[in-house]
Amino acid sequence: MTDTKYQHIDGAWIDGESDEQLTIRDPAAPDDPVITFQQADRQQAKTAVEAARAASDEWAATTPDERDAIFYDVADRIEDNLDSLATTLTREEGKPISSSRAEVSRAAEIFRFFASYARTATGDTVPSNDPETFTYTFREPLGVVALVTPWNFPIATPSWKLATALITGNTVVFKPSSETPMIAKRLVELLEEAGVPDGVLNLVVGPGSTVGDEITTNEQIDGISFTGSTGTGQHIAESVAHRGIPVQTEMGGKNPLVVLPDADFEAAADAAIAGAFGLTGQACTATSRLIVHEDVAAELTDAVVERAKSLSVGPGMDDPDMGPAVSADQDETNFEYVDIAANDGATLLTGGSRPDGVEAGYFIEPTVFGDVESEMQIAQDEVFGPVLSVMEVGDYEEAVSVANDVAFGLSASIFTSDMAAARKFTEQAEAGVIKVNGTTTGSQIQMPFGGMKASSSEQKKEMGQRAYEFYTHEKVVYRTDP
Ligand code: NAP
Repeated sequence: MTDTKYQHIDGAWIDGESDEQLTIRDPAAPDDPVITFQQADRQQAKTAVEAARAASDEWAATTPDERDAIFYDVADRIEDNLDSLATTLTREEGKPISSSRAEVSRAAEIFRFFASYARTATGDTVPSNDPETFTYTFREPLGVVALVTPWNFPIATPSWKLATALITGNTVVFKPSSETPMIAKRLVELLEEAGVPDGVLNLVVGPGSTVGDEITTNEQIDGISFTGSTGTGQHIAESVAHRGIPVQTEMGGKNPLVVLPDADFEAAADAAIAGAFGLTGQACTATSRLIVHEDVAAELTDAVVERAKSLSVGPGMDDPDMGPAVSADQDETNFEYVDIAANDGATLLTGGSRPDGVEAGYFIEPTVFGDVESEMQIAQDEVFGPVLSVMEVGDYEEAVSVANDVAFGLSASIFTSDMAAARKFTEQAEAGVIKVNGTTTGSQIQMPFGGMKASSSEQKKEMGQRAYEFYTHEKVVYRTDP
């Protein structure tokens, strides 16, 4: 690939001006670099913020039909380019090609869904105590927003942030993960082709520590939406706390799947496998703790181990059940946690090694540990890889207590046919997203999404019917006509 202009500032595609280069590697074949290009530096990030500021008033003044036309157009363009976008995604992130295709389709769906917001985001008219005074609220854009995204859903996550920010009339500086700039660039190109004006959407590709830091701490930024690790999210929130601007941080998870003795056994085993090993465990909502009632623990554990052993692992382009880890760092982390769990006394039931015959690529077998206790590091830390811990409990109360015994609170699921227990779980589980008889992963775009505890700043949820609230100020008006 020869196109190395990855920075998009004020409508122009330009080279990065940092001394540092970024090399993108296929995680299934990292010895052959896919592309190398120059990263942005702090000054370019500043220029991008200035461009977004300069374009802000004009974009905010566009009419709903002008904005939604662009969104319907970009949705069509994404679908027209589905194959090439999915291939790009799999080559840089590694996920199975069918998962990449599904994610690209979802991006199109997101733009169509949020297109309608241009016309339907509303305020309230409220009865007034004074007959001469009309009381109402309305919403207006924040101004310039910084969007910072991770690599694991590298087109879906940027799409839901970009769609909501742009449709509500904000201009944007977007910094994707340094692991997945190729798909980010393609998305910005399509938005530009669909008619997003110069300066409204700026892309800067460079290190989080400089480029990410500049766009989040720059005084001209009016709001920040971040998705990524808890450490980075909390750092960003602390850095800008003094400014009092809206900061949305959606962060890590350590998600429990609870199985009671009356559960549909096959469905529970399938959900554990899909949640733990789908997307190589690289989902913020991945199932990392299987909390099982002792009456069914042995049987369920055997079923899960058997299914884990049967999963195919290989390059994403071959569409296996499980692809590689995204990077050398994540690969190292996966194997580190295998050692940590074993040293802490957990029992390795399957996996923990490279699959047979692998000569290159960041592959690990689907890994299941038994005899895991809540105080072990493997039960507390987010691995973000395909490592599942099985934890045995005596009753429902203990199951909830173990489920909640972590810093995180993103997603939680219970399998049971006892709907009273299910309802109690929806109330008692400390998680922003709760499933009953479903995988911890997966969400619908018309439903709000976000966590609690160390998983989220809880500044409005993303997605869903009112996601636009984060990207807008609410103004309250008392109007007395002369
Ligand atoms: P990360 O290391 O925190 O990076 C996320 C983004 O922040 C990247 O674009 C990164 O840039 C940037 N960044 C790093 N340091 C920064 C700084 N000082 N200032 C501003 N930006 C900075 O996370 P990741 O490894 O990409 O993603 C995995 C994590 O995301 C997991 O913890 C996962 O649970 C979480 N996640 C959460 C959700 C959710 O909705 N709750 C969804 C998906 C993923 P560089 O790439 O250049 O470092």
